[in-house]
Amino acid sequence: MNFWKKYRNDIFLITSLLAVAGIAIGIVLGTRKKVNLTAKISVQNKVVETVNLSDKEDHDYYINGLKGILHVHTHDGAIAVLESNCPHQDCVRMGYVNESNRPIICAYNAVSIVIEGNGQANDVEIG
Ligand SMILES: [Zn+2]
Repeated sequence: MNFWKKYRNDIFLITSLLAVAGIAIGIVLGTRKKVNLTAKISVQNKVVETVNLSDKEDHDYYINGLKGILHVHTHDGAIAVLESNCPHQDCVRMGYVNESNRPIICAYNAVSIVIEGNGQANDVEIG
């Protein structure tokens, strides 16, 4: 029996399915890379700094909060408060954040850091 003749259609089907899956994953990954992440740093609800997180570079910002200066740092597309004079250090303990549903709030200094991404609501997660 000829192996090729028997399984030719199956092989074609599997090959084309793999190709379609590969293209789909490529599109999703490509879309994810294009998401433009920005962090808006506000003091008393006024935006004082708009930070581009998409360049994935390290930047330092010193934000004049209500009662002191916050040392804000970006690293690999995420943003964190490294130092603050607030008593509870909740903002510092948040660590590095790169998700829009996890804003960094420093109530003591009336500072908020909110992440915004273009088209992030429709983002598809793999796995
Ligand atoms: Zn704080």
